[in-house]
Amino acid sequence: MICFELLNDYSHICIHGFSEKSDGNFSFQPPRDPGSARSSWEKASVKLGFDIKQVVRPGQVHGDRILSARPEHALVPVGESGILEGYDGTMTAQPGICLTGVFADCVPVFLLDPVNKVISLVHSGWKGTVARIVVKAVRQMKRQYGSKTRDLVGVIGPCICREHYPVSGETAGLLRAVCGNQQDRFLKPAGQDAWHADLAGIVSWCMMDAGISETNIAISGLCTLCDQGRFFSHRGEGADTGRMAAFLALVS
Ligand SMILES: [Zn+2]
Repeated sequence: MICFELLNDYSHICIHGFSEKSDGNFSFQPPRDPGSARSSWEKASVKLGFDIKQVVRPGQVHGDRILSARPEHALVPVGESGILEGYDGTMTAQPGICLTGVFADCVPVFLLDPVNKVISLVHSGWKGTVARIVVKAVRQMKRQYGSKTRDLVGVIGPCICREHYPVSGETAGLLRAVCGNQQDRFLKPAGQDAWHADLAGIVSWCMMDAGISETNIAISGLCTLCDQGRFFSHRGEGADTGRMAAFLALVS
């Protein structure tokens, strides 16, 4: 289980974690074993100290909708049917609720407002990145919970690195549109009509564009495909591979 230094500084406000292969598979989707997934969720709740009965889990449809989660959104038990359809992010100011998501290459984003005590967890694959879901999360935190961007802290967890993430010219064009003046930094040519895209870099750029201070942003730098001993990787191992989970909860 990975914890991030920047969020460890706020351990009196929130608990967080990002699982490794050794923590098990967290996906209930066939052909994986639901029993082993359930056991992974239960073990993680014990290890990190969140309540398994207060888990909120978005369906992750590569969209840009973010649910403001309340206790009634918690899934009991956490299972294959237990997802909140249509959302790729969640946020809450309610202590105890555990925001979660499952990942295998896409970008996990942890957001914390330590002043107003608000958290958000976002799934940003290339489509979510093009839709600027992280910017929408920041705006929603401001609008619904009164967060100030100067207070926000953001962490980008393990995801696929630029070297391992070739995209088509069409996808590169869509990503370029959200890179501001940093296009050449985040998109590198990789042959005919192919580019290497730095999703973590683009998401961090979007966070700064939304007003978060550079010093309040951390990128794990860990690649899910580079390190397949440690992580499941969709591009490295195929769609049937397992999923890691991200966890974020305000301390009760
Ligand atoms: Zn890599």
